Amino acid sequence: MSLNDELYDLSHGNDPARPYWNAARETMPPDAMRAVQLEKLKSQLAYLETHSVFYQKKFREAGFRAGDVASIEDLAALPFTTKAELRESQQEAPPFGLHQAAAMNRIVRTTATSGTSGHPVYQAYTRKDVARRSESVCRGFWGYGIRPGDRVVNGFALSMFSAGLPFNVAIEHLGAVSVPAGAERKAEGVLKIMRDIRATALVSTPSFASYLAEKAPEVLGCEASALGLRVVCGGGESGFEIPSFRREMERVWGTPHVYDWASASDAHPNVFAHCHVREGKHHLTPDLVLVELIDPATGELREMVDGAEGEYIFTHLDREACPLLRYRTGDVLRIRTTPCECGRTGFRMDIIGRSDDMLIVRGINVYPAAVVSVVGEFLPRTTGKAQIVLRDKGPKVQPPLHVRVECNDGIDPGSASDLQGAIERKIRADLTVAARVELVRFGAFERTATKTKLITVEPA
Ligand SMILES: [Zn+2]
Repeated sequence: MSLNDELYDLSHGNDPARPYWNAARETMPPDAMRAVQLEKLKSQLAYLETHSVFYQKKFREAGFRAGDVASIEDLAALPFTTKAELRESQQEAPPFGLHQAAAMNRIVRTTATSGTSGHPVYQAYTRKDVARRSESVCRGFWGYGIRPGDRVVNGFALSMFSAGLPFNVAIEHLGAVSVPAGAERKAEGVLKIMRDIRATALVSTPSFASYLAEKAPEVLGCEASALGLRVVCGGGESGFEIPSFRREMERVWGTPHVYDWASASDAHPNVFAHCHVREGKHHLTPDLVLVELIDPATGELREMVDGAEGEYIFTHLDREACPLLRYRTGDVLRIRTTPCECGRTGFRMDIIGRSDDMLIVRGINVYPAAVVSVVGEFLPRTTGKAQIVLRDKGPKVQPPLHVRVECNDGIDPGSASDLQGAIERKIRADLTVAARVELVRFGAFERTATKTKLITVEPA
């Protein structure tokens, strides 16, 4: 079977007890994987040279020729691709832009970014892209322990979202029961479906998983743990990677299988996911997407060594409809390259922030996500939810950093000064910045199905 055909083999062996969805790819030694990546990179570049108006121009301007590429390092001769360029490209040639590289009659799916930071960017997929996407999701879900027979409830927003309906197609591909409940049903609707369908797995944002557990007694007259779920997983925001938040989710849902997930709409089929060890998320798709780290300020490549930090950029290796090269995601990672006991060979990572919401507090770089992680250590007295309050738009902030923290049910913000002091000391110890913590009552933060806003600007 060729490199391209083998992913259409849905079985990957039919044994439900096997630990990996695709053992050949998930446990491939790094050197062998590097060789697969180079081979695929060459054909992806040759494809773009003949199919993408957008990259033809970039190649020309950089004096770059696909045929000259002899190593993965040669890719560095090309400039980055940015979200702003994709927006421009789609305005110039709607709907999918000048970077669309497959004919319209071969496009079978579209998704879109949320558009919270500008006009949405639309992604297109051919049939082959859809298969790759399902393959990538299956690698993660199989690792979580999801198997044929499981009833998997999708609690993400379904409308246009890349983790919406595409996840349900992937669940079918895995052979489990796809339950497209969707965050649009709100907590009440989703909980009732979970009960009726005898759900065994939930995939959603961590805030929605937490909210569902909170609402279960009111909606169903029982604790969430009585539903009998075996797997709770998802991502889209910080949460499932924080051990204290995870312990709380394990408690309320009554299962030890709580797992984190990370991907980005434009990056598909790229996937990072926890294995059962849960020390960082594995890069599960190195054969489909090349991931590299750069210094977010200078754009220089950083070596992928244990402990390295940097913004990750990706290059599609096996995409037809709208492949991207050296695309800047804005996500800043810290990586681990030591072997993992699960046997997967893809490096592991933790997201430590966004290069575009990085704050500078008296010369020190602070990522709001890192502040939320610290607050997460104070469960269950807090809900783990926190927001940075700025006087005006960053990135420069005068200390102390104003951090609003939500108390849990039954904790009175007015008489919890010890908690307030403890969080302030922990932020100073872990992130080396002075913070002023403002405690707010339980329920003060809006519960949404999507992301909790990490920064709010409130002029004095
Ligand atoms: Zn592992």
